Amino acid sequence: MKTGFYTNPIYLEHDTGSHPENANRLRAILERLESGGLMEKLKVQPGRAATTAEIKMLHAEKLISEVEAAAVSGAKMLHTQDCVISSQTYNAALHAVGSVLDAALEVAERRIDNAFCAVRPPGHHAEYETAMGFCFFNNIALAAEFLTRKMGFQRVLIFDFDVHHGNGTQHFFEERADIYFVSMHQDPRTSYPGTGFADERGSGAGSGFTLNVPVPPGMEDEKYLQTFYANVQPKLLEYNPDFVLISAGFDAHRDDPLASLNLTERTFRELTMELKQLAEKSAGGRIMSLLEGGYDLNALSSSVQEHLTVLQNDD
Ligand SMILES: [Zn+2]
Repeated sequence: MKTGFYTNPIYLEHDTGSHPENANRLRAILERLESGGLMEKLKVQPGRAATTAEIKMLHAEKLISEVEAAAVSGAKMLHTQDCVISSQTYNAALHAVGSVLDAALEVAERRIDNAFCAVRPPGHHAEYETAMGFCFFNNIALAAEFLTRKMGFQRVLIFDFDVHHGNGTQHFFEERADIYFVSMHQDPRTSYPGTGFADERGSGAGSGFTLNVPVPPGMEDEKYLQTFYANVQPKLLEYNPDFVLISAGFDAHRDDPLASLNLTERTFRELTMELKQLAEKSAGGRIMSLLEGGYDLNALSSSVQEHLTVLQNDD
C-alpha cells in the first residue's frame, strides 16, 4: 500500500493576492516533492467536492451560503479582513473538505496506508457559522465528525501542531469524549487567535478530552520535544485512539514570518514518527494529516517533505 497524497488544481484558484496564505504555498510544496523524488512514491489523488450536506454535519447553512454568495458576488473578504475571498474560493473550499473526507474513508478502510491532504483554504480556525484566520470550513473537524458519525470510530485523536490554536476544532468537540483535541501552540497571550490556554480542558462529557499545551515564544526543538514527551505523549497513549488525525501547520518553524517559535524540520519529523507509531500501536496504522498553516515557502516545503517522508516510509 501507499501513502495517499490529495491535491487539486482548484486549490490554486483560491486567489488571495499578496496575502501570506496564497497559492504559492502549494506550488512550493508540489515542486519540492517532485524535485526530491517523493511524488512518484505517493498515490496522488485529486479528491472531489464535498456536498453541502457533508459541510452541514458541523457548519451552519448560513455560513455555506455566505461563502458561496461572497465568491459569486466578487466580494474581497468574508467576516474578517484576513479571510480574503475570490471567485473560486467556495469551489476550492468544497474540494478541500471533499478530499479530506475521501482520504479519511480510504484510510479507514485500509485502501491506502495513510494520507496527506495538501489543501487550501486551511480549516482549523473556522467556527460553526464564522470564517476566521484564513479558514472557511473546518476540514479536520469534518473528517473527525465523518469518522465518528458515519464510520463508527469511537476515539478519534486530533493532534494540532500548527503554531496557532485550533479554536474552531476545539469548539466543535469540547463537550465530547469520542474526539480528543490536542493542540501545541504559541502562548495565546502572544499569538493569534488568543485562545488555547492550559485550563481549557473541555466540559461536560468532554471534560478532560481537550488538551492545550501553550509554549512560550522562542522555544527551540529540544525544549518543544521535551514538552511533548513529558506532557502530551503519555496522554495520547492513555487515550488509545482508534484513528489519528493531524492538523499539520508548519508555521512553528523558525523561518516563519507569522509566529515566533524557533522549531526546525527535526521537530516535524520526530512528531510525525511518534504519531505514526501511536497509530500503529492503537489504531491499526490509521493516520491522516492535512495542511493548515506555514508561510515561509522554503521552510514549508522542506517541512512537508520531512513529514511525508516519514508517513510513506514502510520501516
Ligand atoms: Zn497557523
